[in-house]
Amino acid sequence: MPNQKWDYEVFWKEVTNTIRHEISEQEYVMWFNNMEYSSSAEEEIRLSVPSSFYKDQVSKRYLPFIEEKLFELSGQPVKISFTVKAKSKTSSSEEKKTAAKEKEKKPAPKVIKTHPRLNSEYSFEKYVIGENNSFAANAAFAISKNPGTAYNPCLIYGGVGLGKTHLIQAIGNQAYNEFSTMKIVYVTAEEFTNEFILSIKEKSSHKFKNKYRKVDILLVDDIHFLPGKVETQEELFHTFNALYDANKQMVFTCDRPVSELKALSDRLRNRFERGLNVDLQPPSFETRIAILKQKIENKNVDIPDEVIELICKNITTNVRDLEKALTKLVAYADLVNKKITLEIAQRQLQDFFTQPSQKNISLDLIQKVVADYFGVSSNDLKGKKRTKAIAFPRQVAMFISREITEYSTTEVGLDFGGRDHTTVMHACQKIENTQKTDPTLEPTIQHLIRMIREYKINN
Ligand code: ADP
Ligand code: MG
Repeated sequence: MPNQKWDYEVFWKEVTNTIRHEISEQEYVMWFNNMEYSSSAEEEIRLSVPSSFYKDQVSKRYLPFIEEKLFELSGQPVKISFTVKAKSKTSSSEEKKTAAKEKEKKPAPKVIKTHPRLNSEYSFEKYVIGENNSFAANAAFAISKNPGTAYNPCLIYGGVGLGKTHLIQAIGNQAYNEFSTMKIVYVTAEEFTNEFILSIKEKSSHKFKNKYRKVDILLVDDIHFLPGKVETQEELFHTFNALYDANKQMVFTCDRPVSELKALSDRLRNRFERGLNVDLQPPSFETRIAILKQKIENKNVDIPDEVIELICKNITTNVRDLEKALTKLVAYADLVNKKITLEIAQRQLQDFFTQPSQKNISLDLIQKVVADYFGVSSNDLKGKKRTKAIAFPRQVAMFISREITEYSTTEVGLDFGGRDHTTVMHACQKIENTQKTDPTLEPTIQHLIRMIREYKINN
């Protein structure tokens, strides 16, 4: 039998055209612009997508709709399959161009009105988009334009200094300018907790409930503060339900995926996991350069490109630290009234650049930080138990030990309760494989590594 050549590309085009008219522009740009038709097979269209996160989200949101449309068009069931296209390391300048184009397409209007609780500096205009944050930034922008519709609730998670507060406040700033009658409340989880406790003490919980259950947009920053606070969680749970039922927008931020928050009630966790969960990852070198240049624009100082590159090469995991380094340099140049040169920068920023010597990081410290994060003890990691709740953190700790220290697999094994070096090798392999299938694991590991290094610097 001759090979039948299947070609459903035209159907795919037709489907995307239909969808474009049925969902908002932001939503379309976010999910369909990065999805490519790659080939057809018998009763199957193969698409390529940039990540498994993307694949999961698109499947959840649009697959039934797409397959139904395909059936209508072709008169037969046509399935969709996805291939995750590995990110090409060399294409970062391409990515930057796309990001820049995206930005051009939908310039965010300048924030003119200032919300009393929000920092007007935290706008979309000043938020540099790179491939590390484009999902989150696009979703945030879409939310600010259509609160309470597409992504409700939305949870943005990522490590320290990666732009969570900037982004959640940008939503508030943008919506505040866009919808003058909307009531927008921004609060950190800590402030929410304190206010709630005070309202009980002062017997004014009615006022408290009124404030939070009658908003159009509720922005709660840093919900990793909530674990262990049982009554506050209960209150937030009821607030959530009231707002959710009324189609009011909620956005939360957290320093890790909620699945990893200890001592959080299951029902509240379940609420946070509804809607869209997006992560912020550390920015690439190019994005760091773009961010610094953006920050410099506001400062009205002359800093040579080679100095910018020096900073971006040395500070890799935290945008806040990039900014701090810049501020320090500018302050110094002001003080001594000198132009900033490479030599000056190198001397002045020495402290920022010295990563703690890798060999100085003890396996004890790694075990402590990882155990604490997962809510188990260091002794558990060294012990015999092999339940998943302990085996997984143990594998993560072994993996990190190999990543950031010079200890051999034999030494690591010995320190983890006298285990064999092959166990360590197996653990590292396992974590590497899991990273490929679970997009939340790599940011978690990066977060832990940062915590370990920061602990080392501060102690
Ligand atoms: P987080 O809340 O995640 O700890 P922040 O939102 O406070 O981080 O960000 C730290 C600093 O870095 C802020 O001054 C913020 O403006 C800046 N920043 C982070 N990401 C970006 C970005 N993509 N573009 C511009 N500035 C950024
Ligand atoms: Mg923050």
